[in-house]
Amino acid sequence: MKREIPYKTYLSEEELPKSWLNLKAFMPEQHAPFLNPATGEPCTAEDLEHVFCKECVKQELNSADKLIPIPDGVRSFLRTFRPSPIVRAYFLEKELNTPAEIYYKFEGNNTSGSHKLNSAAAQAYYAKEQGLESITTETGAGQWGTALSMAAAFYGLKLSVYMVKVSSEQKPYRREVMRTYGADVVPSPSNTTEAGRKILKEFPGTGGSLGCAIAEAVEMAQQTPNCRYVLGSVLDHVLLHQSVIGLESKTALDKFGVYPDTVIGCAGGGSNFGGLIAPYMAERLQGKNETEFIAAEPASCPSMTRGKYAYDFCDSAKITPLAKMYTLGSGFMPSPDHAGGLRYHGMSPVLSKLRDDSYIKPVALKQTDVFAAAVRFARCEGILPAPESAHAILAACNEAEECRRTGRKKVILFGLTGTGYFDLAAYKSYNEGTLKDFVPTDADLEKGFASLPKA
Ligand SMILES: *Cc1c(COP(=O)(O)O)cnc(C)c1O
Repeated sequence: MKREIPYKTYLSEEELPKSWLNLKAFMPEQHAPFLNPATGEPCTAEDLEHVFCKECVKQELNSADKLIPIPDGVRSFLRTFRPSPIVRAYFLEKELNTPAEIYYKFEGNNTSGSHKLNSAAAQAYYAKEQGLESITTETGAGQWGTALSMAAAFYGLKLSVYMVKVSSEQKPYRREVMRTYGADVVPSPSNTTEAGRKILKEFPGTGGSLGCAIAEAVEMAQQTPNCRYVLGSVLDHVLLHQSVIGLESKTALDKFGVYPDTVIGCAGGGSNFGGLIAPYMAERLQGKNETEFIAAEPASCPSMTRGKYAYDFCDSAKITPLAKMYTLGSGFMPSPDHAGGLRYHGMSPVLSKLRDDSYIKPVALKQTDVFAAAVRFARCEGILPAPESAHAILAACNEAEECRRTGRKKVILFGLTGTGYFDLAAYKSYNEGTLKDFVPTDADLEKGFASLPKA
């Protein structure tokens, strides 16, 4: 007989993964290489090391090693907020009256409130090991900036966060958390960089954009001695660091003999989803399971459901390497959807390749439906989810309701990436009935596709 499965399962600190799982080493074919936008040639390690930390570049280009050891110095920081719990969503199952078993991995139990701290930890550690004094980054909604502030404080690095100006005005408390951890928060565009000054001159009074914030952060990193830029999603090494989510999930579920039929995550740049699915996708690629993988994205920014699989810039300032990925075009202007962390024009090259090879099924969800699922979940499971995470909740509910109709007892695992305490303006709008859906028309998408670089 199967053991009674507890509501919440925590692993011990000793069970924290000792290695990351490098999904790329299991893929029969690799994604196309990054291209240097200046030459059109594949990026060399040297090209990338001008911008990113050495060890991260090594990981970025590593498709050989299945397991990559997590340094003790990273594990000691991970211990302060991991392992994270696996929850059997008994109350959501009851609410949905479904025969399905639903589990979720909760990544919101740290001060930054999301999974992003997993990669911030590794990237800040490697920056320190390399002897750097400072790092820079950009943040839109603020989760990544907060996570990196915590990691920079832990390892003793200076950090400048270029925060999209409208966000820094809309979310003054996020900004204050970052400052409390010692980060210098610069509303972007700013006059601290050439890129910022240029935009300010052209568009005085602009609220800024993620592309502009990236351009400022990269410029600052390149102009400051002993400084590098770090990125919170999309890149292969970020997915690698996030594999702790999937590895812990698997260790916990294996104890109960539970194996998911369906794994679901929300997808912005793809890092949490890539990390959650890693061990199960690795087994799928070895023919050991028939697990289904569902990536939930906002209908307002539908890169995997309606985008093109093409080379594109990773940022709208067009200064980062070109990546082959599902993309809406770096010039795509996402509507003001509240899931800020999912408003990215592209998608991780690893996930894009898996999607193109039909291993991943993407779904696009409307934000009014997403918030309805968030509220339903909060009222029965207690946790107030981030709007991004609520995309995974809705996709899981949809699967569970399908099970109710068919009587199938599927095992569903989804990633609950964070909490929504800083998203109360969005909840307010939902509660007052003023939340709107934005779904781009084909003509809107064409405008974005027109910004794709010519082959
Ligand atoms: C940033 C963020 C996401 C999306 O990022 P990915 O790289 O796609 O994982 C999802 N949920 C939360 C709470 C976030 O902060």
